[in-house]
Amino acid sequence: MQWLAAWQRKRFLKRHPLPEAAWRDVLSRLPVTSCLDAAARQRLMMRGWQRLHHLAFHFPEPLTWTLEDQLSVAAHIELITLYWPDSQARWPDVHDIVVVPDAFRRHLVETDTAGVIHEHDDERIGETSSRGPVVLSMNDMQADRHHAGVNVIIHEFIHKLDMQNDGVANGFPPLHGDISSRRWHATFTRVWQDLTDHVARGAPTPINEYAATDPAECLAVCCEYFFTAPGRLKATYPELHALLVEYFRQDPGQKRTTQHPGADGYNARPSQPASR
Ligand SMILES: [Zn+2]
Repeated sequence: MQWLAAWQRKRFLKRHPLPEAAWRDVLSRLPVTSCLDAAARQRLMMRGWQRLHHLAFHFPEPLTWTLEDQLSVAAHIELITLYWPDSQARWPDVHDIVVVPDAFRRHLVETDTAGVIHEHDDERIGETSSRGPVVLSMNDMQADRHHAGVNVIIHEFIHKLDMQNDGVANGFPPLHGDISSRRWHATFTRVWQDLTDHVARGAPTPINEYAATDPAECLAVCCEYFFTAPGRLKATYPELHALLVEYFRQDPGQKRTTQHPGADGYNARPSQPASR
């Protein structure tokens, strides 16, 4: 049905001409897209522009939320599935995006396995729920553009992808037919084991410690590295990196080092105390 998607795209562009100048400006400021060749950038702009017309952004009044800001979010979403066919890159549960100025607090009430209720306040920079909106902190979105291993937009939309299986984020998104669930499980279990071993020993974790809080967070954090610090993920967990190259059908590290000298083209990663 590729012809149908092409026809729909052509008709859409006739009604909504692509804002190429705004797109070029946005992509020039996003290191995460620096590895894309001309054809991939064109596909990203087209898909992102169509995506934008299916999104509803909500933000508090004095906050300025420009077309460029919206394109930036759409670019991140479409980057994740850029090398998947149109039929798979559909994001059926992505509609509402709530933008807040900065990190926010949530009062949480949780019951542990022994039935004991715990209450605590949690500071967050992003939040996702099945059939619910994606919440993003504007300050963190802007800061993340320049930091390796951290990207709240990619993080939250990986949770959305993860939830496509049964509405629950558990580190097990729908897989392509050529990747076995056994391999996915075994690879992520080894990474999870290594991270939790580091935490148990009180040793610094090789990637952001937040990955060791939950299997869903492990997937989301590993994908943040995959797209923003692929060299570091490959050096630390080569087997996992290879699996994600197959899963996303792309290798973001291939060209980036020649275009952006330094650690994947970003500054050093800051500490990230907040949840997401
Ligand atoms: Zn998360």
